[in-house]
Amino acid sequence: MDGTTRTPERLFDPPSHSVAWRDAPVFGQGRDVSAVPIRPPERFLVFGAPVIGEAEIAEVVASLRSGWLGTGPKVARFEAGFATYVGTPNAVAVSSCTAALHLSMLTLGLQLGDEVITTALTFAATVNAIIHAGATPVLADVDPQTMNIDPSSVEAAVTPRTRAILPVHLAGRACQMDELMAIGDEHGLALIEDCAHAIETQYHGRHAGTFGRAGCFSFYVTKNVITGEGGMVLTEREEDAARIKVLALHGMSSDAWRRFSDEGYRHYYVTECGYKYNMTDLQAALGIHQLARVESNWARRQQIWKRYRRELEGVELDLPAEPEPDTRHACHLFQVLVDGDCCGVSRDTFVERMTAENIGVGVHYLSIPEHPYYQQRFGWRTEMWPEARRIGRATVSLPLSAGLADDDVADVIAAVKKVLNV
Ligand SMILES: *Cc1c(COP(=O)(O)O)cnc(C)c1O
Repeated sequence: MDGTTRTPERLFDPPSHSVAWRDAPVFGQGRDVSAVPIRPPERFLVFGAPVIGEAEIAEVVASLRSGWLGTGPKVARFEAGFATYVGTPNAVAVSSCTAALHLSMLTLGLQLGDEVITTALTFAATVNAIIHAGATPVLADVDPQTMNIDPSSVEAAVTPRTRAILPVHLAGRACQMDELMAIGDEHGLALIEDCAHAIETQYHGRHAGTFGRAGCFSFYVTKNVITGEGGMVLTEREEDAARIKVLALHGMSSDAWRRFSDEGYRHYYVTECGYKYNMTDLQAALGIHQLARVESNWARRQQIWKRYRRELEGVELDLPAEPEPDTRHACHLFQVLVDGDCCGVSRDTFVERMTAENIGVGVHYLSIPEHPYYQQRFGWRTEMWPEARRIGRATVSLPLSAGLADDDVADVIAAVKKVLNV
């Protein structure tokens, strides 16, 4: 049996940070019971598999039949729906969260040498967006319990060149926004939120993505609402929304996407050197119907999250902390920490063994200073952010898709216990 038995699942792009795609080893059947994996290879549990309904499929087909594949009315519908869901006036759909972060950074008018503080425990896109905008990223360490950016570490990282703070609501857990906003106010810093995990997240009754100057969301295949690839910027400022729209489409004057509509050709004018970051109607066709199920999918993931917490209690793993009072956790990831000294299995061995049980897991994330590019460019060393390093070397994300059946969840729990020899 080889990897080709899993062909249908290869329809989904493997996320670069997921290890679900490694081929599982082959076991001789009937020789050693413990060598029989919890799931057979043909039922490999793909980490972060999206749930795509018939409504999405019909809407995509309708787009194809209409012939309007590019940016058009469905994108406008998705933007309006998203703005209503979060309760904010302006939503601009773009091609990815990375694009959303980049364009939001550009609205700050950063100069060479300006600094933006972000977390050392995030996906590379967060840091890259700062660099692409011409600024210098500065890392803050994370809180050991919440794994989110630690306000005291942010405070310590502020310099006269600091212009903005870019917190990430990791796993869907809200950052300490009161503290971060107080630091921002004190030093005159803009706040831009990376909400890639946090569509459903709330903090003190307010939605993530509405606290700062902009909130950036992702609709990548493994996220809570998917469009294949896609992103969204939320901002209260009309002028930022308008500028982001222009920058996302070559810098052409607004509503340039109408230039081939049935109203006939219209001239457009390039007002600045923009990018090609627009979302298409084919993508929005998925998003519209995904959004309609955002709450029911969240409720299902929350159920699974709670079941993991309940049934893995007592196992020698660190489980995620309970959500903080008066917050809503989006339950995007269920991260466990594997401490090799404590449970006798290293994180990487745990990942390999779970994969051998035909259960895909993820790692969110190796801390940013583990990557050679940042080490070489900024002279960062992992020990400078010890909590992010410790978590990054121990963390494993268990499957948490709303599409998991109860039996799938039971398999994950059984596999974790087997892998740890419980
Ligand atoms: C996925 C992710 C991004 C990037 O999102 P894309 O839509 O893939 O560009 C940025 N930040 C975090 C924390 C993410 O998880």
